[in-house]
Amino acid sequence: MSNKLKYIDEKIEQLKKDGVYRTLPVNYGACTNVINLNGKEVVNLSSNNYLGLANHPRVKEASQKALEKYGVGAGSVRTIVGNQDLLEDLETLLAEFKHEEAVMCFQSGLNCNIGTIQAIVEKGDLIISDELNHASIIDGVRLARSDKAVYKHNDMHDLERILKEKRDDYRNVLIITDGVFSMDGDLAPLPEIVKLSKQYNCLTYVDDAHGSGVLGESGRGTVDHFGLHGEIDFIIGTLSKAIGVVGGYVATKQNVKEWLLHRARPLLFSTALPPAATAATIESVKMLMESDEHTKTLWDNAHYFKKALKDLGFNIGISETPITPVMIGSEAKTMAFSKALLDEGVFVSGIVFPTVPLGKGRCRVMISASHTKADLDKAIQAFEKVGKQLSVI
Ligand SMILES: *Cc1c(COP(=O)(O)O)cnc(C)c1O
Repeated sequence: MSNKLKYIDEKIEQLKKDGVYRTLPVNYGACTNVINLNGKEVVNLSSNNYLGLANHPRVKEASQKALEKYGVGAGSVRTIVGNQDLLEDLETLLAEFKHEEAVMCFQSGLNCNIGTIQAIVEKGDLIISDELNHASIIDGVRLARSDKAVYKHNDMHDLERILKEKRDDYRNVLIITDGVFSMDGDLAPLPEIVKLSKQYNCLTYVDDAHGSGVLGESGRGTVDHFGLHGEIDFIIGTLSKAIGVVGGYVATKQNVKEWLLHRARPLLFSTALPPAATAATIESVKMLMESDEHTKTLWDNAHYFKKALKDLGFNIGISETPITPVMIGSEAKTMAFSKALLDEGVFVSGIVFPTVPLGKGRCRVMISASHTKADLDKAIQAFEKVGKQLSVI
């Protein structure tokens, strides 16, 4: 009998040859500061649970209450009977939090990008996208029927070059950027992007997945950080990172929300968020609005950790956020570094080509408000030991 799936085996063999074949680590519990990963207790320096809300008692309690009243599933897409009142409440709350007119929620940040981008442009329009934008933006852009162009990362001269060359050939031009770039932790120059968008009459789209809950007043995001309320047409956020649950949203104008309800395919063809998740999210957002204590702790932890690594002589890149890429270099050395840290009881995923350029391998540390000083000190000691062992410092 011929093996019709042999071509998949061949592809997997190639992954192994290239040294990029992966297996999944298993976390035997909640996403917290210290986790049981593959049966070993480790300090968790790799989650996006920036504020420690994923396992917060208040958030869990809100979720449990909703579970009793609403059950486990929404039962349908939103346009049929999946639009539970909780989801309406969440959107009202998020619009208030973000200081925007309206919010539309999706099942994830990825769904939000692939649903929104293709709905707001059409043939005769142009999307101009930063070369380092997140994969879900790239996929969203691929699905759009407009033309596409890419500018060099955060390079405003390159963006303007494209605008000069092409603006007049199109009806709408949409500039898309991440607010915070997830691999380096640097910010998009939003004030300059807004200036160019006004000068060339463009629409602006900022995916703030790593900025929400982290930057701005009480974690209102990158747009708030730069004082640009009202200047960005589409602000994307995720409910899966700092907010600690799952889901994504676009904060925008009311008419855009109405239009998305008719054209954004994840809203039309995929079941709505589970109610217990929605209730948990409402509680998380309320906690952010009540106090900036969680955001403050996150930044205190980030400053403490970054200073220690810098003092040890590590290259921690150009990050302006709690994302801390510890630059190692070659792919093999990066993976060896990550493995040696694990032996010391510290989990930091190694990030290598093709996620980042060849030779720019790094151990990307994600600091959280849930880390104690003892967790951070243990991690710093492990970095020092392994850094000396592998001659990185
Ligand atoms: C993580 C991330 C997403 C995806 O969000 P999910 O809610 O996990 O689907 C989208 N955009 C950016 C920039 C991200 O960093």
